[in-house]
Amino acid sequence: MAEPKRFLIVGAGFTGAVIGRELAEAGHIVEIIDQRNHIAGNCYSQRDEQTGVLVHKYGPHIFHTDNQEVWDYVNRFDNFKPYINRVKAVSQGKVFSLPINLMTINQFYNKTMNPDEARQFIEEIADLTIQDPQSFEEQAMRFIGKDLYKAFFYGYTKKQWGLEPKELPASILKRLPVRFNYDDNYFNHKNQGMPEHGYTHVIEGILKHPNITIKLNTDYEHQMRSGYDHLFYSGPIDQYFDYELGELDYRTLRFEEFRAEGDFQGTAVINYCDIEVPYTRISEHKHFAPWESHERTIYFKEYSAKHEPGKTIPYYPIRQAKEKAVLVKYWERARLEQNVSFVGRLGGYRYMDMDVTIAEALKTVREFIANEKNCSDNHHV
Ligand code: UDP
Repeated sequence: MAEPKRFLIVGAGFTGAVIGRELAEAGHIVEIIDQRNHIAGNCYSQRDEQTGVLVHKYGPHIFHTDNQEVWDYVNRFDNFKPYINRVKAVSQGKVFSLPINLMTINQFYNKTMNPDEARQFIEEIADLTIQDPQSFEEQAMRFIGKDLYKAFFYGYTKKQWGLEPKELPASILKRLPVRFNYDDNYFNHKNQGMPEHGYTHVIEGILKHPNITIKLNTDYEHQMRSGYDHLFYSGPIDQYFDYELGELDYRTLRFEEFRAEGDFQGTAVINYCDIEVPYTRISEHKHFAPWESHERTIYFKEYSAKHEPGKTIPYYPIRQAKEKAVLVKYWERARLEQNVSFVGRLGGYRYMDMDVTIAEALKTVREFIANEKNCSDNHHV
């Protein structure tokens, strides 16, 4: 093996934990710092003392992936229980099934169409003049038509992103399927599940290695780098550079917490699509663990707002033209930094699901280790 090196990792979420673990297994010494008082980043889960329910503190996280390696990886650290995400939507005083499927279309239009009829019906109401949809709105108008767009996407998206859907990229809507059958699974991926003991337990398992130490409640400062051979930084890239080239905009989330007896809404997630309702969705967390049973319940109304650096937690990067231009400048600036890798959702300023986060962390660190090995092999020749 090459000489052991010392690594500093900023952030103890999935990215930092996975990178740290691979480095530790390769024999290196790893120190991970996190500004929060807990590990697991935005995936943090914690049992609520009053109700006994396992709560996703920073909003619902459902694991879904087609990547077998990533699925096997997370299953090393907990038992992932089968869980299918089925989301309901309230629009104009009625409850519907999401993602848009045959049930939604038939309920919405008060019809009993079969798959072919529904497909043809949507083709007739869709705007086929849009050939290459660029914006969220164009994507919606092209594939579901104006009525379904207005009922399910316009208000929700405006609340979620604080922007008109015509200013947002089509890629955001492309995350969601449209189905002409009664399949109401929110995701298309082959593997889907929930860790039996929560995401904190999974990340705790990843971090459990004699070569890894963790320091919580610790903000990153540049002088900390001395004594380390390399830094993996999973915090916001603009913050690393003290916002010297401008701020990258994010949306943040705020959760209003409620407890009650019994079952509040009968399912894990209900989206509220109307613009008049100030929150985007309500999630009732005991339904994320259907194998458990609890007399009481805890649920959260979720509000989206503009992120304020230093005050709120960044969630969704807003990758509009303005932000992309700033990001490119940070990338140029980042190339000049020696022995630093910017990683993860915040390091890369990208909208990433958990499986993609893990896959990228594995790829980055394995390439890094392979490179190190090559360099040291060459050095010894
Ligand atoms: N969306 C919507 N109405 C819904 C659900 C989603 O308008 O009921 C839009 C919204 O803009 C959202 C995007 O579709 O950001 C992608 O949805 P997804 O469920 O993937 O959002 P996330 O899980 O990232 O919050």
